[in-house]
Amino acid sequence: MCSKQWENNEEINIFREYLRIPSVHPNVDYTACVDFLRRQASSLNLPMDVVHPKMPSKPVVVIKWQGSSPNLPSIILNSHMDVVPVFREKWTHDPFAAEMDDEGTIYARGAQDMKSVGCQYLAAIRALKATGYRPKRTVYLTYVPDEETGGDCGMAELVKGDYFKSMNVGFSLDEGMASEDNTYPIFYAERTMWNLRLKFNGTAGHGSLLLENTAAEKFQYVLDKLMEFRRSQSQKLAENPSLDVGDVTSLNLTQIQGGVQSNVVPPVLEALFDIRIAITQDLDELEKQIRDWCDEAGGGIELHFELKCPFVEPTKIDPSNPYWMAFKKSLDEIGLQTHEHVFPGATDSFYVREVGIPALGFSPINNTPVLLHDHDEYLRAETYLHGIQIYKKLIPALADS
Ligand code: ZN
Repeated sequence: MCSKQWENNEEINIFREYLRIPSVHPNVDYTACVDFLRRQASSLNLPMDVVHPKMPSKPVVVIKWQGSSPNLPSIILNSHMDVVPVFREKWTHDPFAAEMDDEGTIYARGAQDMKSVGCQYLAAIRALKATGYRPKRTVYLTYVPDEETGGDCGMAELVKGDYFKSMNVGFSLDEGMASEDNTYPIFYAERTMWNLRLKFNGTAGHGSLLLENTAAEKFQYVLDKLMEFRRSQSQKLAENPSLDVGDVTSLNLTQIQGGVQSNVVPPVLEALFDIRIAITQDLDELEKQIRDWCDEAGGGIELHFELKCPFVEPTKIDPSNPYWMAFKKSLDEIGLQTHEHVFPGATDSFYVREVGIPALGFSPINNTPVLLHDHDEYLRAETYLHGIQIYKKLIPALADS
């Protein structure tokens, strides 16, 4: 198949148009995204709302496909409109031109994460409408801002408001991740995220002395303990091939601050840790352990949680969850090989699960390198079009479940 054939494909053209909108951090302007989605909604003859849960510059677009039984809980097909920054010099293609090579490979920021998914939902609905199909449950397409900076102005606020309540959501489908082999990962949970800043207070003085209880000694003690814990998690991962990083706790030192000049022992040193906690780990126990290490180090250490997410129940992947059963069955029927995973990072599904709604993460991208947030992010036209077929199967399965 040569690229000429892809170039005349309506769905590929719509996808590339969306990719060309530079909705990139920082300070994303969402105007062009909203305009694009308005054109899409009107071409599908579906009503569209724009709501602003946090502030006017952070729109959430909601496209509604009314079901034949509108009193049943609805389905949301969520995607985020924003993309992460690019290092242009590292790209072999303009990241916002959506260039396509001879093999039909489309290069653009957002090609995998996740403008593809947002457009595939639209394409699947277009195809379903063409067959005369109408869903039983109402299906909402939600396009949210600022997922890549934590979702505070998007999904986190949306789920708290009356507009969301009025949507009567029963289930949410959102992004997953590409897979390098033939299989498709399905994400039913996320690790619990903590950003912990430790402030080590110690004896200050002249750099020529051997003072006791210095900030550096305390830092060393606690860092050793934390790194030992980190090693135990790496080992767990290495010893069991059925685990992946989402199944263990990751802990990384990401910032260090302190000191004024070389001959002054500083009164305080600070260290920031990114911690993503396995769903099997008891949170209170972990916090107590860290506090104990701080005490053993000599005290005077302050713990500041810059982010301390609560534990959120994983979405059930058993017969008690009819949406899961419908989801899995429809993928099985089209012969897709799937695996259930805990998402290693964070997505908007966190906020949806937090308010008690089951949510799954799934991106229909296999046999493709995982390039989200990477240079030369791409998706093959063939993979994109196959994904539309997958949603064409999935959406009715969920909406009629
Ligand atoms: Zn994403």
